[in-house]
Amino acid sequence: MRPSGVHIFDSSGSSAIDVDVLGRYCNELLGGVNVECHGDLLTECLSGFDRVKKERLKDAYAVRLAEARIANIKSVDKPDRPAKALVDYERRMLDRNPPRPIGILYDGYQLCLACAEPLEALGTWHEDCIIVITSQLFGSCDDVGSRYHARVSIYGNPCLLSTTGLVEAPARPRRYYLEKRMGIDPATLEKQFAGRFLDYEDSRTTDVLKGYIAQAIFYYMTGEPFCGDPDCRLYNAHWQEELLRAQLGGDREFCDYHQQLLQAVKGAGNG
Ligand SMILES: [Zn+2]
Repeated sequence: MRPSGVHIFDSSGSSAIDVDVLGRYCNELLGGVNVECHGDLLTECLSGFDRVKKERLKDAYAVRLAEARIANIKSVDKPDRPAKALVDYERRMLDRNPPRPIGILYDGYQLCLACAEPLEALGTWHEDCIIVITSQLFGSCDDVGSRYHARVSIYGNPCLLSTTGLVEAPARPRRYYLEKRMGIDPATLEKQFAGRFLDYEDSRTTDVLKGYIAQAIFYYMTGEPFCGDPDCRLYNAHWQEELLRAQLGGDREFCDYHQQLLQAVKGAGNG
């Protein structure tokens, strides 16, 4: 149940993320499990290979990324094979260091598969919990499977957390959109709603991500990352204000049930 080890990769290139803080948080959450923090997933996974092998792995990764692109958010239908121009674009971006350009929406589960490719090349850590923080935006289908919605996280192997998703996926207050439609200028709106939603490079990003690291850990341990209690860090927030309440509000991190589960996991680890 408890992972033997946790690996956190930071491919976001964001200065608002302190991956070592997240590593220490995760270590404490699990009562001393070995947590290793890494830089960019691709760079770290390919570092041990020669130039030819690196190129081959990047080529394969670029194809996976192009396959993961969502062509139309209102449809799950996709071409069998991505256009060469898209593969070439993804391949060029892989030669850049993070932060890589954003603006494409990927299918979250296919992006997981893409990330598994460089991890497979490494051939280790199969029993560990692997978390990748990315700046790329991804989505998954709604319950009826008819259209994509942007997400903060995708729980799979590996688990993906998106810094762009933190800003773009949970909705801002209704009134924000209303006033925006009424033509209130963006600078005034930003001031009026300051603090009520996360922004890019927000100083609260690392603290907020702690809850998503906890969700990934619970997904690994129980298969269920979420909780219905709006004051628990495992709450699946669809609004920015819900997100801030679950992650930064109140004087406790988890509901009684999840707190007890964590105590049991710590006890098992120490015993
Ligand atoms: Zn809970």
